[in-house]
Amino acid sequence: MTEVIDGDAVAERIRDDLRDSIETLADEGVEVGLATVLMSDDPASETYVSMKQRDCEEVGIEGIHVEIDPDAPAEDLHETVADLNDDPDVHGILVQMPVPDHVDDREVLRAVDPEKDVDGFHPENVGRLVAGHARYRPCTPHGVQKLLDSADVETEGADVTVVGRSNIVGKPLANLLVQKAEDGNATVTVCHSRTDDLAAKTRQADVVVAACGVPEMIDGSMLSEGTTVIDVGVNRVDADNEKGYELVGDVDFESAKEKASAITPVPGGVGPMTRAMLLYNTVKAAGRQEGVDVDL
Ligand code: NDP
Repeated sequence: MTEVIDGDAVAERIRDDLRDSIETLADEGVEVGLATVLMSDDPASETYVSMKQRDCEEVGIEGIHVEIDPDAPAEDLHETVADLNDDPDVHGILVQMPVPDHVDDREVLRAVDPEKDVDGFHPENVGRLVAGHARYRPCTPHGVQKLLDSADVETEGADVTVVGRSNIVGKPLANLLVQKAEDGNATVTVCHSRTDDLAAKTRQADVVVAACGVPEMIDGSMLSEGTTVIDVGVNRVDADNEKGYELVGDVDFESAKEKASAITPVPGGVGPMTRAMLLYNTVKAAGRQEGVDVDL
């Protein structure tokens, strides 16, 4: 029987644990604060930010939201980030990407105080992660690790193939899984659009993580029996329903399920974990900044 890994349930357990840590901080007089900054009128970005704000409210984190006109100069965004860096009530800052073309996104990532960089994208935090002493693990890769753990999938000694090498998913995940650590110690193959014979790399794997942004690209024929399949992908495809679209992953769920020992669905797999791990990093940030042991 193939296990369908329930990301919603795992995320809910993580939120429950976080409520305890938030209470510990409250006992010390600390209200945890997360600032989201949106400089875009893209409906998807607006939805992501409002979901993050809702998540904060649900666990008792104070959400602060700043919107900047997408036509405003880059300095406006930098001033906002500088103000939030200086604000002691703000423990985490998330600038929703992408920012408009006239704003250099790398400069924005560098502008966020690394202690408040709960996305884990500041170059200092990327460097610390690669060196094996991460301050904050990026949310999606960390969520994938938690899902593997929840399904009792041992990464130690496992062959893991990660399809995708982006800075937000593929590269940090590969770095985490290869670390000399209990939730690492894997042998990792990282694939991308120039990889030769992708199916050979996925068939040799004990664990396949699909993060390529191509709808249902990884199918059952590319997997060996008993593989664990983690589908990071979220793709909108046209559908004959009220909305006119549906969300599918980077994995062809039905054929992959025939081969997999465990698999994540879309939606309800990695997505809720990414959101939960943002809350996790925010609570951890508050603990670090306020000198309170929150056990994360
Ligand atoms: P990017 O577009 O930044 O990166 C995609 C990666 O996949 C690139 O490295 C690219 O290779 C590789 N790739 C593209 N086509 C192929 C192919 N045919 N064969 C092999 N590799 C290929 O995407 P992200 O990492 O940002 O996101 C990946 C997916 O995960 C998307 O569907 C996205 O929506 C989703 N996502 C989901 C999240 C969640 O919370 N569930 C969070 C973040 C992302 P190359 O480098 O050569 O271009």
